[in-house]
Amino acid sequence: MHGDTHTHTAFSADCKTNPEDNVRSAIAAGLSSLTFTEHYDFDAPDELHSFDFDVDAYFDTVNSLREKYAGQIRLFAGIEIGQQPHQYVAEATALKMAGRDFDHVIGSTHFIDRLDPYYGGFYKEKTKKQAYDRLLDELLANFKYGYDFDTLGHFDYVTRYGPYEDKTMYYRDHSDLLDELFKYLIREDKALEINTKSGTRVEPDPAILKRYRELGGFLITMGSDAHKPELVGLAFDRFTEYAKNFGFRYCFHYEKRVPVAEPI
Ligand SMILES: [Zn+2]
Ligand SMILES: [Zn+2]
Repeated sequence: MHGDTHTHTAFSADCKTNPEDNVRSAIAAGLSSLTFTEHYDFDAPDELHSFDFDVDAYFDTVNSLREKYAGQIRLFAGIEIGQQPHQYVAEATALKMAGRDFDHVIGSTHFIDRLDPYYGGFYKEKTKKQAYDRLLDELLANFKYGYDFDTLGHFDYVTRYGPYEDKTMYYRDHSDLLDELFKYLIREDKALEINTKSGTRVEPDPAILKRYRELGGFLITMGSDAHKPELVGLAFDRFTEYAKNFGFRYCFHYEKRVPVAEPI
């Protein structure tokens, strides 16, 4: 099975997992590689967590696990950067990454108008269409700040926590914004992530991935976004078949910021 490109450990402020437990879990699941992608969200409005980590200690940990598990699985050191539409956030994030040898950078949006959908307040006084449009608008706005990233993380983050009975994001309801998003990714050679955590919580609309492929998108990564070891590689069998149905031939992971194709 291809690699899991999106996982967290205790280097992420919202996670307690021992990194080695993720490695063991990935080996048990038969994954070819595992990418650690720890949270860095500069100026997060979350009062409980500071989404920052010690990059030196992180690389020491990944390097020692690489040695210990050489020949069993390939390990990559990534980061999930939180984007907000502010120049000072973009600059601080660039400084955090400067001179560091990350394999994979996921660009994500966790906070919109200083609210995290995780806590629910974001949805107040918004219809479902307004809430989902607001997230997609924000993703597009963040692209203008020059964040350096390889993969757009969980474009469907907003579907996870909404109060709506049917939480699915439908292509037909957001076609203009989704088209703009996909065209940007394709033009800029950035990958679209199939986030299996989002996908297992809320049934995805097949029309979305179909449209990305129609527009010429072929760079996809698959990430569990696991915050617990047992969730590494979550539902990969199902979502690999799903991707194949739309004509995707490869899932990608990143090594030294270069996409590497694995046939699916
Ligand atoms: Zn995220
Ligand atoms: Zn994540």
